[in-house]
Amino acid sequence: MDYIVRATAANRQIRAFAITSREMVETAREHHNTSPVATAALGRLLSAGAMMGVMMKGEKDMLTIMMKGDGPINGVTVTADSHGNVKGYVGNPNVIIPANYAGKLDVGAAIGYGTLTVIKDMGLKEPYSSQVPLGTSEVAEDLTYYFAASEQVPSAVGLGVLMSKDNTVKQAGGFIVQLMPFAEEEVIDKLEKRINSISSVTEMLEKGMTPEDILTEVMGDMGVEFTDKIETGFKCTCSKEKIVKALAGISKKDLDEIINDGKEIDVKCDFCNTTYKFSVEELKTLRKQYQ
Ligand SMILES: [Zn+2]
Repeated sequence: MDYIVRATAANRQIRAFAITSREMVETAREHHNTSPVATAALGRLLSAGAMMGVMMKGEKDMLTIMMKGDGPINGVTVTADSHGNVKGYVGNPNVIIPANYAGKLDVGAAIGYGTLTVIKDMGLKEPYSSQVPLGTSEVAEDLTYYFAASEQVPSAVGLGVLMSKDNTVKQAGGFIVQLMPFAEEEVIDKLEKRINSISSVTEMLEKGMTPEDILTEVMGDMGVEFTDKIETGFKCTCSKEKIVKALAGISKKDLDEIINDGKEIDVKCDFCNTTYKFSVEELKTLRKQYQ
């Protein structure tokens, strides 16, 4: 079972989250039939999105993270709620590019140069929206920069997705560690040293380390205390009714053209790739709403 742990350390001067997300990322891969580098990119952002989702306080709060770059993946989008449910997709699931200099899946090159946008819908009139330029486009570093630049929260983000030889997901997970505004210099220094000394998320997961183990490793002797454990997973809440609402957004002219073609149409949910069929009769019913 995939889950997120929430923790504090150093007398609440640090707050932290860690996730194990193999099933979540494998489910995303199955839905979208993503190539290994697309699975890694989507998996990293899904894992981070799930953790950032549970950071939100409202029952109905929604979070969307978009990485839009000039790379061949043509963007990665993830949406999460505050209960550990997350969904997402990439523009081009088939992208295949050479491994990077370290022999790793080159997520940075797949995404390319561009922007990271975070939108939080917290039930207010206007959703909170913030955009920062992408740096390495490796996801974790970009989110670290987002937290510092947009939320003024010094953070360390680690994310990892490891693929099996058969291109299924072997390991996935990550952590987000954040300094509270009242964190003392000594704690900041100590955390920095720990972050620089730990191995990568995928290496830790390969050793069999749980989210609890990962945070214990990151925090060292700073007294990590676990405060919550939340089940998490890939979940899309789309339905034919919801897709109809999206269809209602198309122009009268386009709808008429589809009806005149006289063939049923397929409408796909971007987030989970489920196809919904609409008969000509159903489209005609929809058409009446315009009159
Ligand atoms: Zn869906």
